[in-house]
Amino acid sequence: MQNLLLPPSEKRKRFELRALGLREFAGVTGEQPLDPFALAGFARLLVVDFASIKGLSTESREHLLGVAADEWSGGACSRPLPNGWRLVILNPAHGAARNRATLMEEVAHVFLGHKANRLAAMTTSKKSSKPSGAAPKVLARDYNQADEEAAYAVGAAALVPYGALRRLLMAGRSAPEIARHFGVSRQLAEYRIKVTHLWAIYKRVAGALL
Ligand SMILES: [Zn+2]
Repeated sequence: MQNLLLPPSEKRKRFELRALGLREFAGVTGEQPLDPFALAGFARLLVVDFASIKGLSTESREHLLGVAADEWSGGACSRPLPNGWRLVILNPAHGAARNRATLMEEVAHVFLGHKANRLAAMTTSKKSSKPSGAAPKVLARDYNQADEEAAYAVGAAALVPYGALRRLLMAGRSAPEIARHFGVSRQLAEYRIKVTHLWAIYKRVAGALL
């Protein structure tokens, strides 16, 4: 990889390198958006359509997509299927952008070699390092906190890589535009701008364009 542009902090550099490895594996470069669904199979994750889940009562279905919709984003079942694959369920109430981030985190857990132990119950999450608006996880709450942080950060960096983000910001693109370009939420785009210390550049360029 030539002209490798990395974020300033050591921790972010490490996350970025793993993320770039994932992007390379997926065959995307530069400013190309990454489709986590294309990577799920390599991670042996089987994404199941929520609507096709049998055995959920109408009441449960309505609960999960209604009043409880903000309490879960989805995740992978810790226990693999007999063929080694693991089921991933995504919350259809959250829309494509957030589903992509949730799936990307699960893909990152696998590629980073994280080990989940037991099947987690439905819980509401405690404090998390994720951007506001991100829903707590209900399934697969079994990774330790460091692994959770790494998977989320690497997944987010794979979706919105630093080099491309920096170029787009310098070209005057706004966070919502960048979010649309990469198929992520505005919150995720802003989270990436902040953690990679690009917020000052973003404000300066945006201010100069006014
Ligand atoms: Zn996770």
